Amino acid sequence: MTAVHVPGTPVIEDGRLVSTNPATGAEAGRLLVASPADVEATVAQARAASGWWAGLGVAARRERLLRWRSRLASRIEELAELIHLEGGKPVAEAVVEVVTAVEHLDWAARNAKRVLGPRRVRSRLMLAEFSAHLEYQPYGVVGVIGPWNYPVFTPIGSIAYALAAGNAVVLKPSEYTPAVGQWLVDSFAEVVPEEPVFAAVHGLGDVGAALCRSGVDKVAFTGSTATGRKVMAACAESLTPVLIEAGGKDAMIVDTDADLDAAAAAAVWGGLTNAGQTCIGIERVYAVEGVFDRFVDRVVQRAGRLTVGTDGTDIGPITMPSQLEVIRRHIDDALARGGRAVLGGADAVQPPYVRPTVLVDVPEDSAAVREETFGPTLTINRVRDVDEAVARTNALRYGLGGSVFGRRRAMAVARRLHSGMASVNSALTFAGMSTLPFGGVGDSGFGRIHGADGLREFARPKAITRRRARSLLPATTFDRTDADVARLVKLIKRFYGR
Ligand code: NDP
Repeated sequence: MTAVHVPGTPVIEDGRLVSTNPATGAEAGRLLVASPADVEATVAQARAASGWWAGLGVAARRERLLRWRSRLASRIEELAELIHLEGGKPVAEAVVEVVTAVEHLDWAARNAKRVLGPRRVRSRLMLAEFSAHLEYQPYGVVGVIGPWNYPVFTPIGSIAYALAAGNAVVLKPSEYTPAVGQWLVDSFAEVVPEEPVFAAVHGLGDVGAALCRSGVDKVAFTGSTATGRKVMAACAESLTPVLIEAGGKDAMIVDTDADLDAAAAAAVWGGLTNAGQTCIGIERVYAVEGVFDRFVDRVVQRAGRLTVGTDGTDIGPITMPSQLEVIRRHIDDALARGGRAVLGGADAVQPPYVRPTVLVDVPEDSAAVREETFGPTLTINRVRDVDEAVARTNALRYGLGGSVFGRRRAMAVARRLHSGMASVNSALTFAGMSTLPFGGVGDSGFGRIHGADGLREFARPKAITRRRARSLLPATTFDRTDADVARLVKLIKRFYGR
């Protein structure tokens, strides 16, 4: 199939997936599309490689992964340019993305042994004659399905942790960013040339679906909630465990004692970074009555200064051309229902760009408040107090991250958010904290990447008991006597019966 296409929309030409820049249409990548048989063969090769990788041992894996980290760090400009070319993201933002990915890779490599390695755990009185041993063993082959909006940071959150845990990985990058995915695979092969421990399969959604059905031992999916449901349904057929990192509609709450300048700066960056195409991006803000007007003024001043365009700007093009209509619909709907644009608005969508847009007094049941917009827009609504802000924040089924600005109550409010993560007096920072788990609740998914929980997500706990002495009070044998049972009853009453 050969097609004249909208810049940025991937096409398949002569069996190759061609990705292009959404602003200029320049070709970024041309990758062989995997057939279902190719997917199976890649997974089979990865399975063979997984035994070799696991057998290398944790110290050798750590050394290889740290070398891969060094490659990424030393070639950061090259990778950032490719991210910019393929997805349109400003180079500076791409640099920040790679920096965060490098940090996660470093942490996963350094901490796999401590978190997953064999350890003794305590025995309890009832089985005191046995020692207890715990270790976390790799699944085998992990399938990683990634989105386009953070084509390095997001898949690395699964890939680095899965590899560090001793698994092989087969990546299905988004059809919008296959070249970046392949770059990751190729750079890894430079430090692990022996076996295809980390491979990619390219194509459209059907290739992702084939990966789910290929016999991989776990699937780590990052993408929309709707696709997450399909992935889970496909994996259910073979009881393949899944990790779902899905969409969000994260809110920021601005309390009366907040530093309004800092809050405005964080709302603008947290909402508009990567042109708002961020799963944990701030999409809605609830500001308490007493500070609302001053906060909105500051947001408008800051957002109004941002530059839009393709090179050296703050806000790049919308990566997925079809998203432009969604953003337009959300803005139009908000305005039609009585919301006001204090910046941008009805004319903001100028393909392939969207100009920064700040909407206030937007009805809570409008699409701009309830659905993922994925554009450089913010809704800011007035609330009586933080309790009302928390209630409105928690009214959606999404629950990924969130942000709270304030002093006295901020930590308590952060705890009350129905979300997997929160930042107090900043936005999005939990994503870069490699020691913390990352993931959502409700429609935002389940399971965790990053941190110790992220390592454990890619390993099976293996529990072993080992006899270290004869049983004084035999229970788990047909050799026990009535007297043994009577003593057991006495014992359990004495220790647990009161
Ligand atoms: P999609 O859900 O459209 O796609 C995600 C991935 O799934 C792509 O690689 C896609 O392939 C693949 N896919 C599509 N259909 C299937 C299928 N039936 N079976 C298996 N795989 C399939 O999401 P986007 O790429 O548009 O990413 C944006 C979404 O990702 C947003 O909702 C965002 O919030 C979320 N996200 C969540 C994050 C988190 O950590 N929670 C982080 C980053 C983004 P193809 O592209 O070829 O269609």
